[in-house]
Amino acid sequence: MQDTSLRGQNITRRVLVVDDEQINRELLGMIISREYEVIYAEDGAEALRIIRENEKTLSLVMLDLMMPEMDGYELLAQLHRDEVLRRIPVIVLTSEKSAEVKSLQLGAADFITKPYDMPEVILARVRRSIELAEDNLMIRATETDELTGLYTKDYFFQYCSRHDRYFPDMAMDAMVLNINRFHLINDLKGRRFGDEVLAAVGGCIKGTVDANGGLACRCETDTFQIYLGHSEDCPDRLGQLTEMIRTKLGWGSISLRLGIYHNVDMSIDIEERFDRATLACSRQRGTYGTSYCVYDTEMHEKELFNERLISEIDKALTERQFKVFYQPKYDIRGDKPVLASAEALIRWFHPELGMVSPGAFIPLFESNGLIQKLDRFVWREAAEQIKRWKEAYGRTVPVSVNVSRMDIYDPDLEELLLDIVRSNGLQPNEYLLEITESAYTNDSSQIIKTVEQLRADGFRVEMDDFGSGYSSLNMLAALPIDALKLDMRFVRHICENPRDMMLVEMMLEISRRLGIPVIAEGVENEEQYRLLKSAGCEMIQGFYFSRPVPPEEFDLLIEREENKVKC
Ligand code: C2E
Ligand code: MG
Ligand code: MG
Repeated sequence: MQDTSLRGQNITRRVLVVDDEQINRELLGMIISREYEVIYAEDGAEALRIIRENEKTLSLVMLDLMMPEMDGYELLAQLHRDEVLRRIPVIVLTSEKSAEVKSLQLGAADFITKPYDMPEVILARVRRSIELAEDNLMIRATETDELTGLYTKDYFFQYCSRHDRYFPDMAMDAMVLNINRFHLINDLKGRRFGDEVLAAVGGCIKGTVDANGGLACRCETDTFQIYLGHSEDCPDRLGQLTEMIRTKLGWGSISLRLGIYHNVDMSIDIEERFDRATLACSRQRGTYGTSYCVYDTEMHEKELFNERLISEIDKALTERQFKVFYQPKYDIRGDKPVLASAEALIRWFHPELGMVSPGAFIPLFESNGLIQKLDRFVWREAAEQIKRWKEAYGRTVPVSVNVSRMDIYDPDLEELLLDIVRSNGLQPNEYLLEITESAYTNDSSQIIKTVEQLRADGFRVEMDDFGSGYSSLNMLAALPIDALKLDMRFVRHICENPRDMMLVEMMLEISRRLGIPVIAEGVENEEQYRLLKSAGCEMIQGFYFSRPVPPEEFDLLIEREENKVKC
């Protein structure tokens, strides 16, 4: 027996010869046993049993058509219907030329006519059929995702492009489907169940696209991309899909979110079409039930605007289009409010767009990491400003800077901040750091470690936007902070809504017991100021005292304060 060495793999392939006539079996066996291990069956039924038993090791079946019991056609049909067995190539053996078409239709890979008078030709055909089948298997393994049976991302994009070439005038929808809170499913019900969920979602998507002539892939853990002919009834399709998945899983709690980019623009890259669907999908992050969102022109314009901001940030920093404004925080415990510190807030004066609000660019830069560049700029500016005020007025006006969640994970954060204060001749306690509440709830152990270290260095840390996220009051006791900034939405309606006021009083009471001073943000009028003061709030920041102002204007606030002291 010889080594077939196909594709460099030194293993001897196994071939099954199925023929009811012994002489034919022996003849063929003699020819191919020069290169292959040959096993035999006398009829279709026996062959089927042997194929099932050797499903993983069998490289080829050579099949006579005319046999008693189960004939070759019937066996071919049975193999063709089986997801696994159909991957084993079959060469049909017969003396009738007319059988060729029917056998090929039933999935035969090739055809050899009896009698076997050209052994070399037979061997060559056997080799070629095995080679082709193995190549196919390899391609399938890389082009499909094992868990779901859907395409992998790269192949998916290739097939989408091919679809476009074949059907250039067909209106298509690009869709991105995500499983809501999949990580929780994994955490709460185990990875095995998580895999079952993915397989069920993938299987149902495959069923839908197969039935409608579309394509689909799993592009990330729980994210699927679907390319389907345009349809207006996406909500129905989504509802049906969800029901199908729930039934398949026997679990009714799964919910999905779908982003749809309808009638895709064929002139843009396939990847970009799915970026748009992804954007639409991400709009529903945080929703609970199954829901969908359609990509529209407003999103498109926002996307272009965002891209512009991203591409211009470096230029804007170099050209000093960013300015740091300062908003005072007043200590209101005594008879008269006393200027206690300031918050540094960035402003973008764009030469063409005018003043761009931080609300437009901060979340954007937070989502892609660019915020670190901005924060560093603000941190340096703020330190220089403290120094200038110190020199001009002989006193420290501590300034707080915003520290983004991403900064917390920067291993150089501590060194950098120390360098910034020291290089301006300041002590860390003249510099305040505001860390938003949501950062604490995301990965509290890491953040607590970092904050403890920064406080040990002497920095003072304020928790920003308290109450805007999911933090609970009892969490406060465990957190190392110097002050708590009450989110402005608590303050907004305290005058009209006694329940809001009650909530604020409760928070003030708890903070007092924990020894953490509270800074109320967004105080806009005297009534709010008075209510907060009488409830024992220590500090106030808001338009009532001053909007965020450029440093020159802030000088006046300091001077007014100095005069007050002198009077
Ligand atoms: P924040 O840190 O909570 O800052 C307070 C925001 O409330 C500021 O908005 C301020 O102008 C606004 N504000 C203050 N008093 C009042 C008031 O009485 N009424 C109302 N309606 N608003 C008031 P701004 O400057 O638009 O900043 C928005 C957010 O952007 C900030 O919220 C902060 O999270 C972020 N941000 C601003 N500058 C920076 C920065 O340099 N770095 C980082 N990472 N984030 C920044
Ligand atoms: Mg802040
Ligand atoms: Mg705040």
